[in-house]
Amino acid sequence: MTSDLDIARAAKKRPIQEIGARLGLEAEDLIPYGHDKAKLSTETLTRLEGRATGRLILVTAINPTPAGEGKTTTTVGLGDGLQAIGKKAAICIREASLGPNFGMKGGAAGGGFAQVVPMESMNLHFTGDFHAITAAHNLLAAMIDNHIHWGNALDIDLRRVVWRRVLDVNDRALRDVVTGLGGPQNGFPRQGGFDITVASEIMACLCLAESLEDLQARLGAMIVAYRSDRSPVLARDLQADGAMTVLLKDALLPNLVQTLEHTPAFVHGGPFANIAHGCNSVIATRAALRLADYVVTEAGFGADLGAEKFFDIKCRKAGLHPDCVVLVATVRALKMNGGVARADLGAEDVAAVTAGCANLGRHIENLKGFGVPVVVAINHFAGDTEAELAAVRDFVATQGAEAFLCRHWAEGSAGITALAERVAQIADSGTASFAPLYPDDLPLWDKIETVARRIYRAAEVQADPKIHAQLKEWEAQGHGALPVCMAKTQYSFSTDPTKLGAPEGHVVPVREVRLSAGAGFVVAICGDIMTMPGLPRVPAANSIGLNSAGEIEGLF
Ligand code: ADP
Ligand code: MG
Repeated sequence: MTSDLDIARAAKKRPIQEIGARLGLEAEDLIPYGHDKAKLSTETLTRLEGRATGRLILVTAINPTPAGEGKTTTTVGLGDGLQAIGKKAAICIREASLGPNFGMKGGAAGGGFAQVVPMESMNLHFTGDFHAITAAHNLLAAMIDNHIHWGNALDIDLRRVVWRRVLDVNDRALRDVVTGLGGPQNGFPRQGGFDITVASEIMACLCLAESLEDLQARLGAMIVAYRSDRSPVLARDLQADGAMTVLLKDALLPNLVQTLEHTPAFVHGGPFANIAHGCNSVIATRAALRLADYVVTEAGFGADLGAEKFFDIKCRKAGLHPDCVVLVATVRALKMNGGVARADLGAEDVAAVTAGCANLGRHIENLKGFGVPVVVAINHFAGDTEAELAAVRDFVATQGAEAFLCRHWAEGSAGITALAERVAQIADSGTASFAPLYPDDLPLWDKIETVARRIYRAAEVQADPKIHAQLKEWEAQGHGALPVCMAKTQYSFSTDPTKLGAPEGHVVPVREVRLSAGAGFVVAICGDIMTMPGLPRVPAANSIGLNSAGEIEGLF
């Protein structure tokens, strides 16, 4: 079988200047990183300010299962489909986290004939943005310990340093470490730990920042530790914000690459989808909207997490108005939601598909609640049967929505033109009237409850009195207008990953709350959230290498 890597390697890429020209960009607008990647220059971004914007289309999905849904693949395919029907289109997706590529197989550039290229570069060092974030993050960590070493004028409580270190490697041995061992010349020993780079608050700041000035203000506002009197110490108290901004200056500029069909693709930023908001950068989305008539973007995880955060955090903060939502479903994932085990997915099971459609129906209803029209994309897999596909179509019709069978993975744009036509029509119709789920001035706890009840359909949201007290304290400190960023399992509407389908009446326990004061949200942790993955028993790294032609083998 042809792998994603084989297809990507055979791609006939056009020079990046030609891709820029499709958006009306001159060669000088681009800062080339080789022949097939470029960043948009600061001058170009400034020049685009105030331009009319195109239509914004969000691609999201039903709750993920190990069977795969293909959100990125569909985002890329739809961008190509819109281009194929004669529209000026662009896509906006996230950059890949390096660490997981050496653990489990699976890239971030889409799949089959709906991919972004150069995919090897995109899944490895790309334009160095994530390395810059790692450097900025660890510079701040070093400055904290250095400040303590030289007398601790800020009175930082050594036991309450909350700023950890980051690395873009899956390394479970670094989750909890003791730093500063080896004697007085090495500072004061304290407990610390590492997260993966994408979990850094700096990543979330970069993805929500409007400009370099805004980025610096956000970086300065990040809480790094608490004093003995429990008052917060900010990055700007350590005068670290300027140096971090210098390290991130180029990383803030959006990256332009292309799809297999030469549709312009902005690949920029990649915040964690649980403790952060899981969307590509505001700067890239804005630039794409000013350059193209239709911009297709993706949010991480299922719609209960990804789309909710896209709407309530990204769109609310950046003033974006999505025109259409494409909800991706697959027969396989619906079957799993209907109770079929992964090993049994090969056999036709219409009843299970129909049962699993409860999950799809719940998402359609939730998305409509945001005031944005929804269409369903059935991402076709080779084993799907006619009867199973008909069951999905029939179900979607009962929900007052339309479903389109899409074969972009196997056929590229030719397999998704019907969806592209309809999406363009809906986006142009002006029927969307987007509104976030809750107003800014709702108390923080009520925001958490609103998401849990309205989106997850929980009967009850529980938390210790100390969590309520913490939220009240943040409100008193002026953080009450922030949106909430829910961190829960992506596999279920509930906090129990085994409850598939459309569970209701469950209890959502809020175990912890964290303030991301720089990024600008309050994280509500409802379950075990891993911020430093480990490698599996047999990591993908074991089979990655270069062949005799100097090409990468085994990456995907
Ligand atoms: P997501 O963005 O939802 O995580 P991706 O688009 O990255 O999912 O796809 C995950 C994997 O599934 C990729 O390896 C991709 O090649 C594969 N995939 C997606 N759609 C199909 C399909 N229709 N048939 C076969 N494999 C697919
Ligand atoms: Mg994806």
